[in-house]
Amino acid sequence: ESFAESRLPEKVLECCKNFSKPSPIQSRAWPFLLDGRDFIGIAETGSGKTLAFGVPAIMHVLSKRKSKMSKRVNPLCLVLSPTRELAQQISDVLCDAGKPCDVKSICLYGGTSKGPQISSLKSGVDIVIGTPGRLKDLIEMGVCCLKEVSFVVLDEADRMLDMGFELEVRSILSQTCSVRQMVMFSATWPLLVHQLAQEFMDPNPIKV
Ligand code: AMP
Repeated sequence: ESFAESRLPEKVLECCKNFSKPSPIQSRAWPFLLDGRDFIGIAETGSGKTLAFGVPAIMHVLSKRKSKMSKRVNPLCLVLSPTRELAQQISDVLCDAGKPCDVKSICLYGGTSKGPQISSLKSGVDIVIGTPGRLKDLIEMGVCCLKEVSFVVLDEADRMLDMGFELEVRSILSQTCSVRQMVMFSATWPLLVHQLAQEFMDPNPIKV
C-alpha cells in the first residue's frame, strides 16, 4: 500500500520519490517478484508496469551482486519488448532508476548500427532491454551472452507474438539461465501467449 511497507532500500526507491504511493500493479507485483515467483500481469501501459518489473529487476541485480561479488560482465536481467520505441521508454526508466545503486541498463534495437551497442555490451551491463530481432542477431554474433540472465521480462507479450516474433522469443529465452524468474506482461491473453507461459514459466505463476 505504501512505499515504506515495501521495505525496499532507499536507493532503490529513489526512482519513486515523486510518487505518493505504489500504483496498484506495483503493490501487487512487488511482493511476489521480490519473493522470486513467476508473475503474469494483465496490464496496460500507463499503469506503472515498467517499475512494477523494473524495481524487482534492480533488486535481483543487487542480490546477485552481493552473493557472487561478481564483476559486471554478462547481463543478469533481460527485458524483451516488441518495438524500439517501447524498448527505449523502458530503458530510459530503468537507466534512471538504476543509477543510485549503480545498476547499468542498455537498450538493443534494430534499425541502427550495431557498433555502439556492441561496445556498451563489452563494457559490462546488468540489465538488457531489447527487441527480439536485434537481440537474436547480437547473440548469434557472439557479442551478447544471456547465460547468466536469471530474471526475464516479456513486455507486451501479446503484441510481440502478433508481430511474428515467436521463434525469436523462444530462441532467446532458451539462451537464458535454466533457473530463472520470469515475468510476463500482456494486455490480452490469447492462446499463443498462454502456450508460451506454459512452456517457459513455473507451473503456477501468479496471475494478476
Ligand atoms: P508505465 O505504465 O510504466 O509506462 O508508467 C506510466 C506512468 O506512470 C509513467 O509516467 C510513470 O512515471 C508513472 N508512474 C509509475 N509509477 C507510479 C506511481 N507509483 N505513482 C504515480 N505514477 C507512477
